Formats: sequence, C-alpha cells, structure tokens
Amino acid sequence: MHYRTHNCGELRMQHVGQEIKLSGWVQISRDFGGMTFIDLRDRYGITQLVFNMEDDAALCERARKLGREFVISATGLVRERSNKNPNRPTGGIEIQVTALDVLNTSKVPPFTIEDDTDGGDDLRMKYRYLDIRRNPVKQSLIFRSNVAIETRKYLAGEGFIEVETPCLIKSTPEGARDFVVPSRMNPGQFYALPQSPQTFKQILMVAGMDKYFQLVKCFRDEDLRADRQPEFTQIDCEMAFVSRDDVLRTFEGLTKYLFKTILGLEFSDFPRMRYDEAMCRFGSDKPDTRFGMEFVELNDVAKGKGFGIFDNAELIVGICAAGQAEVYSNNDLKTLAEWLQRPQIGAKGLVHVKVNEDGSFKSSVSKFYSDEDLKAWAEKFNAKPGDLLLILSGEAEKTRKQLNELRLEMGRRMGLMKPGDFKPLWVVEFPLLEWDEDAKRFFAMHHPFTSPLPQDAEKMMSGDHETLKNLRANAYDLVINGVEIGGGSIRIHERALQEKNFNLLGFTPEEAERQFGFLLGAFEYGAPPHGGIAFGFDRLCAVMSGQTSIRDFIAFPKNNMGRDMMIDAPSEISDEQLKELYLAVTADRKV
Ligand code: ASP
Repeated sequence: MHYRTHNCGELRMQHVGQEIKLSGWVQISRDFGGMTFIDLRDRYGITQLVFNMEDDAALCERARKLGREFVISATGLVRERSNKNPNRPTGGIEIQVTALDVLNTSKVPPFTIEDDTDGGDDLRMKYRYLDIRRNPVKQSLIFRSNVAIETRKYLAGEGFIEVETPCLIKSTPEGARDFVVPSRMNPGQFYALPQSPQTFKQILMVAGMDKYFQLVKCFRDEDLRADRQPEFTQIDCEMAFVSRDDVLRTFEGLTKYLFKTILGLEFSDFPRMRYDEAMCRFGSDKPDTRFGMEFVELNDVAKGKGFGIFDNAELIVGICAAGQAEVYSNNDLKTLAEWLQRPQIGAKGLVHVKVNEDGSFKSSVSKFYSDEDLKAWAEKFNAKPGDLLLILSGEAEKTRKQLNELRLEMGRRMGLMKPGDFKPLWVVEFPLLEWDEDAKRFFAMHHPFTSPLPQDAEKMMSGDHETLKNLRANAYDLVINGVEIGGGSIRIHERALQEKNFNLLGFTPEEAERQFGFLLGAFEYGAPPHGGIAFGFDRLCAVMSGQTSIRDFIAFPKNNMGRDMMIDAPSEISDEQLKELYLAVTADRKV
C-alpha cells in the first residue's frame, strides 16, 4: 500500500489540478447535507477534504461516519477553494476526494485535540500520545529538536566532540539525592544514576579529549516544581587549558548562535555581574534584568528616628514602583503585606511611602518620619510624584530575598516582564563554600570540584573560618530573564587542593578516597587545568519559547509526584525480582 504522495501541510495553489493522496487523522468533520468536509491532520499541517453527495453518494456516506482521530487515507484532486482560509497555509485549496481508506478507528479522545484543550495535567500525561498530537506540544518538541541540532552544529564547529558517559555510576554530588539501582551481580551494592557527568567529563580532560560535550540525561531525586523534573537533559561541556573567560566566550557564543538561528534575534555582549552585586541590587543570584526597580538601601537615612523596627534592623531596603501610588489603595497594600507575610516568603511587615503629586508624602510610618525625612528617602530612590516606595527591613540576607520576591511580583503586576524580550547576563564570583549553622559544616555552593579564584587558592589552603567563608569560587551562571540557564566553573586539577576541599566539606580522607579516589588518582597523572559548564537544555528551550514550564519540551514528563502517568511508573516489582536483587521482601506487599 502506498499511503501518501504529499503531507497534510504542503499543498498550495500550484498543486491545483493534481491527483494526490494524503494520510492522517480526522481533526473534525462537518456535515452540510449535500457536502461533508473533513480536516485531515498530520505533523505537517491540516488539509481540507471535501466529499460531495452528488459526485459519489456512497463515498460521502462513508465519510460521514468517520469519527475524530480516525486514521484515513484519501485520494483526490487538488482544487481551489471558493471560501479560502487565510489562517492556514493550505487554506487556499481543498481535496475533492475520489477514494477513501479507513486505516484505523479511534475511541473518542478523553480531551479535545485542540490548541487549547480541556484536559487536566495528569489526564494529558496519561494519554501523552494524544497530547503530542496537539500543536503546542508538537511544536515544543520540534523546537527542542531544532535547538539540539543547532547546538551540535555549533559545538562541533568549535571543535568539541560528543562523548557518552555511563548512566550506572556512583554518586556525583550536585546537591540532590541520588536515584539508586541495585546490582544483581553484586549483592547489597547499588549504582547511582548520574546527577551530572561531572567527574567523567573531568576525567576526559585528564584523558586529553580537550573539548567534550554531550546532550545528556541527568537524574536528581528532589521535590518537583513546574520547572523541575527528576530526569532532565543538559548540554554538558568541558574544556582543557582554559580560563574563565574562554569558557564564557564559547558559551556566550553558543547562546547567541542559538537565538540567532532559531529566533532570529541578535545580542550584544552579555553583561557580567558579581554574585555579591547581584544580591545587593536584586536580592537574587538570578536577577530578571528585563526591568529595573533595583534595591535602594536606607540604613543611613531611616535609622535613629524612633521607629524601633527600623532601628533594630540590620538592613532597611526598598524598591520604587513607578507610577503605582494611585494604583494601590490602603487595602491593596494590606493585601500585599499579607502576601509577603505568608510562610513561603516570611516578611514581617511592609512599609510604604506614596509620593504625592504636590511633593508631599503619604506613608504608613509618618508618625516617625517628617516630610523632610521622607524626601531624603525619595531622593535616594530617584522617585517621582506618583511613585510608590515599598520597604522591608530585618536581617540582611533574608530581607533581600523577601524583597526579591516583591520586586518580581511587582514586575509581573506592572507588566514589565515582556514576552519576546530576552535579557541574558553572566553572574560570576559565587562564594565557594556556604556555612550551614545547623549542620555546623560547609557545603559547596556549586559542587566539590569547583576551584577558588586563583587569588583565593592560597587562602583556601591555610585560611581560618572567616576567611574560608569569604572564599570566592571561579564559578559562573548564565541567567536569562531571571532563569538560571546553566552554570559551571574552572575546576580544581591538583590532588592537594581537591583533598583540602573534600576536607573542608566534611569528608574524612577515607571517605574522600572511597567516593572519589578515581578522580584524586587521575589528578596524579598529568591533569591539565580545565573548566566547563552545563546548560539545562529543557529549560533553555522553555525560556527561548517564552514558557515557564519545561514539561511540554519533554516528550514524556513526570508529574509532581515523580510519576509517569502513561506507563504508571514507579511501580512495585515481584518478590522474585526483589529476592534476585537481595532486597528485603516486606510481608504485607500486595503485588
Ligand atoms: N555539573 C554541573 C551541573 O550539573 C555543571 C558544571 O559544573 O559544568 O550543574
């Protein structure tokens, strides 16, 4: 059987008069008595089929019986439509059908196969094969494929080679829990699935591969959010004999190339911002720089006037919401304060100042501050009449994080996050170590293989606690529109420094040897200086498409409970399998 001469998206006026054959799915059928119209759909588009009672009554009868999502083949003549559809690329023509084959029937789908569907998330995932027939999901997968192909082209052009690293490994810490796989042949022992190929790519540098990349699945067992999946894909890269700027140049190049080839957008060089600067100006290490509303600190002008809350605060800091004074009633401001006080954000209170048109002020703290005082605040903010100042106070780090949430919320409400506007930047010089007061130990801010800035290496070997807290990492993140697209670092490549780092992170020498002896060993055989980066590939695709969720860019995503709703995984395994794997069989199992 010969199924088609063309696809459902390619016929145009120039084909009028040709006999063709199409195969696809019935999107919709409309019956007008004498005539039946069917929209036939495949991956490439939709073409209108026409059946005419007068031409062939039997054929028309058969067409009327076709249900949604039936799979059919239709042979016919391409003809010009009298009633053209300008919204569809094939809208100038239709097919006058002369022969019809029903290749398969279909049950009525549980949700509509339209751009806007009535299906809930779990239902859509359960019937993902139907969901993927919908344009938005299909287009997202095609988009992803294009980004992948262009990524490979660019990196190959830059001399990178693609190397596959194993999935059955042992723990590579990236700050999440491991998924583990029991080993039948090694009773009681487990593999871990890679949180990233970090150690392998470093080993490839020791092995002299010079420039490595891989579009690679990574696995992290953490609580899920809209932009997280337990398995996701990275564009993972490593380069030897490089310093930070070489890595940034190469991957800024990749980012620019992708935006240019896929979206037709050009960028000038990406700004770079130090971590501490990002925290002070935006309260975030991934600032959304599509809009300003930068933080303004008020300690010098707001303390010492008898307002206890401010007097006792480590930091008083605010933002200026331009033109919002009139927009927000006292009640609105109360609701906004309540929103900030929810446990997710945890602010204590919100102080506001409205700059009136006549230059006077209306404020929730006017009992403590004269108009003269408030004028000094307004000047710091560069505020104009009609502006609204929103101010938080408390412990510095926490307050900045809370104000970051408020800034983003105001940005959203004020429509400042414009779709199609992309603002990339590099955040650099992250802290190397984070002190956890509860656990009384350091954690690696990036991962344990990240080197300090060259000028901090000495301090790392011999510094006291305070010095260690302030070490800066030779690490960097690419941020676009407030989303962390990826991150990386220049690595440690000397055994002594790596051992020191493990030691600072609380590993005993034996633990370090047991977990990472292979890497420490490799460093003794001529490890070159090296560094790299990984982009979250699903996330990059979502951001480039202006979407917040990565789900539609993954063919078969998991839900918030980490379940694959279609194949119903995870699932229990039989007692036999458990025994084979030397895993305990619990008495009350129902398999
Ligand atoms: N392995 C790191 C990550 O997954 C990226 C890198 O440092 O290259 O975030």
